[in-house]
Amino acid sequence: MKIAIIGAGIAGLSCACELERNGVSPTIFEKKSYIYNSFDTNICIFNNSSKLYSDPIEYLRKQYGIELHPIARLTKVILNGPDNQTILEKNLGYIFKRGMEEYSLSNQLSKNLKSPITFDTYINSTEELSKSFDHVVVATGNYNIAKSLDLSTSVSSTRVKLALIYGEFETGTLTVWFDEKFAKSSYAYMIAHSNKQAIITLVVNDVSYSEMEFYWKEFLSILENKYTFIATVDLDYYTFLIKHIRINNTFFIGNSGGLIDDFLGHGIINSIESGVLAARTIITGDDYVSAIQPLIDEVKGFRKSLTSFEDSDYSVENFIFRLPGLKGSFDLSTMAR
Ligand SMILES: Cc1cc2nc3c(=O)[nH]c(=O)nc-3n(C[C@H](O)[C@H](O)[C@H](O)COP(=O)(O)OP(=O)(O)OC[C@H]3O[C@@H](n4cnc5c(N)ncnc54)[C@H](O)[C@@H]3O)c2cc1C
Repeated sequence: MKIAIIGAGIAGLSCACELERNGVSPTIFEKKSYIYNSFDTNICIFNNSSKLYSDPIEYLRKQYGIELHPIARLTKVILNGPDNQTILEKNLGYIFKRGMEEYSLSNQLSKNLKSPITFDTYINSTEELSKSFDHVVVATGNYNIAKSLDLSTSVSSTRVKLALIYGEFETGTLTVWFDEKFAKSSYAYMIAHSNKQAIITLVVNDVSYSEMEFYWKEFLSILENKYTFIATVDLDYYTFLIKHIRINNTFFIGNSGGLIDDFLGHGIINSIESGVLAARTIITGDDYVSAIQPLIDEVKGFRKSLTSFEDSDYSVENFIFRLPGLKGSFDLSTMAR
């Protein structure tokens, strides 16, 4: 069976490894000359009470035989609203690294991969590949191919600014700020990977570059010069929904299948899961669309909750407790103010 995978990110690598576990060696194309993120960041994988599991690492191990090792457990979340602070202390999930280090998520996922990756190769269309391969898996992490096939809908644009900072930090802690003054209806957050270094991130939806600069300055002003800024990266990010997640012999997985929520909080698990499910259904001939439907429903539910927010809903508690999946992870009785 000849299978092409476009993109060697989280979803593409998960798909490739599952194909190999089933005796199929895919052809993988990657536009960069490496597999890890071009920007170094720290991410959280949250416990998710709305799924069949509460512990995501345990779930991946049991369900798909994937062993992942985080850099830390996420044991504390500090939620800062404009006028209040809420601290949650319990096991809320895990923290991973997404840079070039050996223990980064991409390197862990690809550890056993044997199929060669064709690097520095940008594939802008599935037209040729879908003729020369039995199946094509789109794992580009963006909506370009879906857009070219007129499959993308509900596109929403997000600007992200990340910075590596030095200072003094608590590891295992996620600090989040919600404030319309600098994040509109989004948020900023910080995750440390040691007690000396952290990544701080501002996420704002539907703004121009210059507006983003304004919001970044507003955000920095609340940090009161507590940190030394080492490097800053700007990203444009698009979330969208896809009309058909499979078209003939072409399968969409991960972000390129629209399987990311606007909050960016459940993208990793959905990418791994959709990659594995695409591989399995290609091998067995089962229906990929039905297999993936629970993930699509969850992303849609998440977006519906976010878009139904009124400005007055933007208190920390409302934000967390109305989001499917997250709300059960946070127990009101554990909250300190
Ligand atoms: C700042 C930020 C923070 C995030 N935090 C979290 C978090 O805390 N928790 C969480 O669960 N999720 C988080 N996410 C989302 C998560 O990173 C994504 O859901 C996940 O990486 C998607 O995996 P993917 O494989 O679909 O795409 P990617 O990981 O983006 O991989 C796509 C790959 O395809 C390659 N590629 C792209 N176009 C082409 C092309 N045309 N031809 C060949 N190769 C191509 C790219 O170079 C890349 O290697 C975050 C995202 C961002 C931006």
